[in-house]
Formats: sequence, structure tokens, C-alpha cells
Amino acid sequence: MPIAPSITATDQKTWTNRHETVHQVIDNLFDIANGETDDIVDDYNATALAIQGLIRKAIQQNKKIRTLGGGWSFSEVTATDGWLLNTKLMNMLIEIRNAASLSEMYVGNPSNVLFAQCGNSMQELNNYLRRTGRSLKTSGASNGQTIAGAFSTGTHGSAIDFGSTPDFVVGLHIIVSADEHIWLEKASYPVVSDSFIRRLQTKLIRDDDLFNAALVSFGSFGFIHGVMIETEPLYLLECYRQRYPLDDSLRHVMETLDFSNADFLPHGNERPFHFQVVVNQYDLNDGAYVTIMYKRAFTENYQPPVVDHDKAGPGDDVPAFLGKLTQLLPVVTPFIVNNLIKTSFVTFSNVWGTSGEIFTNMDTRGKLLSTAIGIPIRFVNQVNEMLIGINEAQGPFSGIFSYRYVKRSEATLAFTRYEHTCIVELDGVESATTRNFYKAVWKQLEERNIPHTFHWGKISELDAAKLEKMYQHNISKWIKARNTLMPVDALQIFNNQTLMDWGLDTTLLRPF
Ligand SMILES: Cc1cc2nc3c(=O)[nH]c(=O)nc-3n(C[C@H](O)[C@H](O)[C@H](O)COP(=O)(O)OP(=O)(O)OC[C@H]3O[C@@H](n4cnc5c(N)ncnc54)[C@H](O)[C@@H]3O)c2cc1C
Repeated sequence: MPIAPSITATDQKTWTNRHETVHQVIDNLFDIANGETDDIVDDYNATALAIQGLIRKAIQQNKKIRTLGGGWSFSEVTATDGWLLNTKLMNMLIEIRNAASLSEMYVGNPSNVLFAQCGNSMQELNNYLRRTGRSLKTSGASNGQTIAGAFSTGTHGSAIDFGSTPDFVVGLHIIVSADEHIWLEKASYPVVSDSFIRRLQTKLIRDDDLFNAALVSFGSFGFIHGVMIETEPLYLLECYRQRYPLDDSLRHVMETLDFSNADFLPHGNERPFHFQVVVNQYDLNDGAYVTIMYKRAFTENYQPPVVDHDKAGPGDDVPAFLGKLTQLLPVVTPFIVNNLIKTSFVTFSNVWGTSGEIFTNMDTRGKLLSTAIGIPIRFVNQVNEMLIGINEAQGPFSGIFSYRYVKRSEATLAFTRYEHTCIVELDGVESATTRNFYKAVWKQLEERNIPHTFHWGKISELDAAKLEKMYQHNISKWIKARNTLMPVDALQIFNNQTLMDWGLDTTLLRPF
């Protein structure tokens, strides 16, 4: 018996994100589920039609729409006072086995290509890929995000010479209005064939500027229904977390990513896949924590890491273990954080696992705040000293300082926009002190003229003027792309307060 796709109004009237930093009154939350016939592509197409119907209804009833991923963003990018669309049940995965689905101009390896519906969680993807002997090229430190939610804010995991999650996306299927959905890919990197486009009953647009703009667009370019990603053969990560003095040798690596004289690291001058430095400002004498991972060919002959819920795993970032603490204790002081770091953020050597086994945490909850600031790597030591100084003068901040590194992304509004970006992460317990600490940091970055950007899914205080300074002409390129792809009525219902605060909701007069 064929089942039709469903869009179910839950009548939920409030929505809170994962870390309880956003509490939003909403008009409704809808659960979207695929139907089931004996043809997966027909089912996929039927869901697209149903979503178009919902967009039509929203326009008629003047309701705003936001598409929800995992709800893991700390910022209000995901919030709306209108209709929130739950996509977590939209988790089809379609292997592109038929070469006829790929363009003759596709220069990649066809076995790398996977088509994923938007609501697949990073964990679902990791599990599927593990079974098929393949791997994501990168992910965040944790894996509870959906694929569309992750790349829509530029989620990164510190793959220092690859980039972030948007960088493995090569095609986007977007429902841009009540009447139109499109397949968007780069003109410089064509992927799918005409028969694929016909099968999805969609319209092909090949354009680098439009594609790069839509990649990091935090729910504003319509409903991203499916994505084509490039994966790679399964690999292993050989992982270490050790403490090293914050001396000239480590500082040199931190501000250059030049490993040629890094004899102190586990594999000396070998360039790692992942590099992260965590500074506990309350325990500087014993050095910084350096997490370092080397990419290795896959073999079955390894012991995956044993999960210990009381300790930070090899790939865990700071929210993963700070969050647990906030659930157990009413007040978290710097003293408690310091002790927690000593007992939970343990050092280790020679731990092996696939990317999905290392970057694995997905049960994090708790009242946490996180701001993540992208800076060109040459400023990292200056910023670290600045943070220690601000903490002494205006702290104490109940959290620690973390530095991760990512290669530049081509997405128009990627916050990883410097040749190599260092992402300075300040994760702390939810409190007025933490928020004040953030404000002091942001102010000093301005005063010291240190170029910087902000993670779109984390806490910031952005406005149009600040964004213009950070992204210059990329702001107008992004706005123009949005106006090119979406008709005004659809564009307006996909606005939310955050987009307006950022000055990114502009409607342009056509034609351009
Ligand atoms: C514990 C924890 C650890 C984290 N670790 C990292 C990390 O290591 N690195 C990092 O960079 N970030 C990290 N983050 C931040 C997180 O990865 C990002 O905020 C990410 O965007 C959240 O993904 P999500 O699926 O939960 O999306 P949501 O937060 O639900 O949504 C994010 C944005 O995507 C949009 N969106 C979602 N689905 C669609 C769709 N189908 N179509 C159109 N728009 C859509 C939403 O409207 C919203 O604007 C972490 C967050 C937490 C809570």
C-alpha cells in the first residue's frame, strides 16, 4: 500500500534549541516525513511537491518559515516566530550508481558521490559510509547536526588542509519558491547529467557565484531538500592529546601551521590532518593541550576508541564535556571548570579510529554558550595573550580557550575566509559573566584592528556595518544571489529577525 509524504502540524507553540540559549514563541512546528512507494526517487519528488505546497500556504497566510536541522546552533539563525519545519525524518540516501546520472564533464571519481536528503544526521551519514567503506572528508567535532544544518552555518572540524563541511558539497537541490525547485552546482565543477535533472523533475542552474552564495546561507535561500556530497575511501586517524609548554616552538606552529621544525610533536615534522590547541588559563604552568591527528590508510587491524562518558573523547570539543557539568551543578565556577578540565580533558597517545568514531559525540546537552571567532592564523598568539589579559581584568570566565585551524572555504559568506583561518572558540557556562566576557573580547578585537569573522551558528553581536567590514563586496554578492534565485514572496517568508538584524534580508528590484 503506497504511503504519501506527510507534513504534520504539531501545534507546538514554543521552541528551544539544544543548549537552551534560544527560547522562541512559534506559530507552529511541522514534522515532515517521506512517503513510501516502491520507487525512492518518486518518493523524494513527492516530498518536494508537498514542501512546495507548504511554502504556497505560508505565502498565502503570511507566515514566516525556517527549516530546522538538529537545532544545535547556539545563535538565533534557526529561530522564527512563524513555522518551523522539522526535517529529521527526511533521511533518504541515494547512491549514484548509474554513470548516466553524472555529467560527462564530471572530473571527480564517481564512487565518491553520494546524494543525501537534508535531514540525514552526520551520525547517520557516518554509519552508512562506514558500512560502505567510505568516509566524510570532514565534520564538526560532534555529529548530531543534520547535513544541511551543518554546512548552512559553515560547520568545521579542523581538517587543516581540507576545509569545512560546505567544501565537500558539490550540488544543491533547493526548493526556492512555491512553484520552483532547482539543482544548483558550479559551472566550473559540473556534476549531474540531464537525465538526473529530468528524474528529479527540476531545473539545472550551473553558476559558481550562485552556488557559493547558497552554500553558507543559514536557512535563507529556501528549503534545501537534497545535497550531492563527495566522500572518500575510509581512512583512519591516529590521535594524540598531549600537553606542551606554550613556548616559542608551539607558538610558531600556532601562528604559521609550519610543522617543519615541530620535533616535539608525536610525528615530528609530519603535517597532521587535525591540529587543535586548548589553553586552560587557570593552569598555564603545565602547558597547553595539543590534540593532533594524522591521517592513515584504513586497515581492520585497529582498536576503536572506547567511549568513556566521564572523559572527553579524542575528537570531543569543549561543549561536549562542559555541558554535562551544567546539568549536574547549579553554579559552575572557574575553580570547578579547572578541576573538570584536569579530570576530563585527559591526555592520550596512539588512539585510532575512523573519522566517525573519533568525531562522535551527539548526546551533549546543558546550558552552554559558545562563540567562535575566525582570525587569520598570524594573529593567534596576540589573541591568546589578549584573552588571558581580559580574563585577569574582567573575568573570571568559566570556560577555556580553544584554537582550531581550517583551510579557506570558497563559500561567499564562509567565516573560514582567510587562507588558513584559526577558529578561536570560547565555550563557557551560560551566565551574565560569560556574555560580558564575550563582549569585552569582541570589543578588543575591534579596537586592536584584528580582522575577524564569527561562526554563524554560535553567539555573536553582528549587524550590517560589522558584516560589511568583515565580508566587503561578498555581502552584496550574497544578497544579489538570493534575489536572483528566489522570487520576492518566497524570499520574504524565509526572512527571520536575525537575518534582518544582519541586514541580509534586502529585497532588490529586478532585473539586475
Ligand atoms: C555540542 C556542539 C558541538 C559543536 N561543534 C561544532 C564544531 O566542532 N564545529 C563547528 O563549526 N560548529 C560546531 N557546532 C555548531 C553547529 O555545528 C552549527 O551550529 C550547525 O549549524 C548546527 O547544525 P544543525 O543541524 O543542528 O542545524 P540547526 O542549528 O538546526 O540549523 C542551522 C541553520 O541551518 C538551516 N537549515 C537547516 N536545515 C536546512 C535545510 N534543509 N534547508 C535550509 N536551511 C536549513 C537552519 O534554518 C539554520 O539557519 C557545535 C554545536 C554544538 C551544540
